[in-house]
Amino acid sequence: MSMTVETATLPTLLTALRLPTVARLWPEFCTRADKEGWPAERLLAALCELELSEREQRRIQRHLAAARLPQGKTLDAFDFLAVPTLSQARVRALAEGDGWLQAGHNLLAFGPPGSGKTHLAAGIGYELIQRGYRVLMARTSDLVQRLQMARQELALSQEIAKLDKFDLLILDDLSYVRKDQAETSALFELIAARYERRSIMITANQPFSGWEAIFPDKAMTIAAIDRLVHHAVIFEMNVESYRRRAAYAAATSLSDIEGDAQKPQPKKEKDPAQNSTPTATPDSDIEA
Ligand code: ADP
Ligand code: MG
Repeated sequence: MSMTVETATLPTLLTALRLPTVARLWPEFCTRADKEGWPAERLLAALCELELSEREQRRIQRHLAAARLPQGKTLDAFDFLAVPTLSQARVRALAEGDGWLQAGHNLLAFGPPGSGKTHLAAGIGYELIQRGYRVLMARTSDLVQRLQMARQELALSQEIAKLDKFDLLILDDLSYVRKDQAETSALFELIAARYERRSIMITANQPFSGWEAIFPDKAMTIAAIDRLVHHAVIFEMNVESYRRRAAYAAATSLSDIEGDAQKPQPKKEKDPAQNSTPTATPDSDIEA
C-alpha cells in the first residue's frame, strides 16, 4: 500500500472515532480489496461488521468483569443429575432471559450449604450476560453493608438507583445476614424498590421460616417475602453437599485402588452436617 495522506491520517481518525477493530484491520483489508478489486462498499461493510461484532464481544467482557461472578461456575459445568428437583430445561429457559427479566420477576434458590446454589446462580448470570443482560452478583452481607454506608451518607436511594442498571441482582447467601450486622431495613428498601421492575435472585440456606432473623421485625419480614415471591420461580435444592459427595467419592475410589487398611477411610460419621440427609424437608433448619 502506497503512503498517502489518507493512510497517514487514518489511524488518528479511527482512534478518535473509537473504532479499534477497523484501526487494526484496515491495512490488511485495504490491501486485499485493492488486489482483488472489491467494490468500495464491500470493503466498508466488511470493516463495519467486524467492528460491530468485536464491540459486542468487548461489551460482554466488560459486563462479565463488572458482574463479579465466581470463575468457572457455568451451567455447562453444572451437573443437573446431582439435583433431581431442578429441571435443566427450566433453568436453561430462564437463562435465556426474555419475559421474566422485563417483568422484574425473581428467582429464589434454597438448599443446604454445598448444594450448588452459588454455582447455579453464577451459571444463570453468565448466560444472561452472553445474551446482553447486565448482572451483578454479591454476597448479601457485603451489599447490605454498602447500602448501610450509603444510608449514613443520606444516599441510600441513589445507591439503590445505581443498581437499577442491572437487569438481575444476585444476592448470594441471604441467610448469613443478621439484623444486628447492619440495618437490614436497607435490604428491605432494595427489595421494595426493585419490586415488579427489576429482578432479584436470592440464594439462602433457609427457606422463609428462618428469615425473621434477617429483617428487623416480623412485619418487615412478611412484607419482604411477599414482594419476593409474588412473581418468583423457586428452586428447592435439598441435596447433600456436592463438595462432600465429591470428596467422599474420591476418598472411596482411592481406598479401593490402594486396598490398604492403614489408609484413613472416609469417616462419614464425623461429618458435622451428616444429619442433614437429602430427605430433609424444606423447612428444616440447615445451617453451616
Ligand atoms: P452452595 O452455594 O449451595 O453452598 P456451591 O454452589 O458453592 O454451593 O457448591 C459447592 C461446590 O460444589 C462448588 O465448587 C460448586 O461448583 C460445586 N457444585 C455444587 N453443586 C454442583 C453441581 N450440581 N454440579 C457441579 N458442581 C457442583
Ligand atoms: Mg453459596
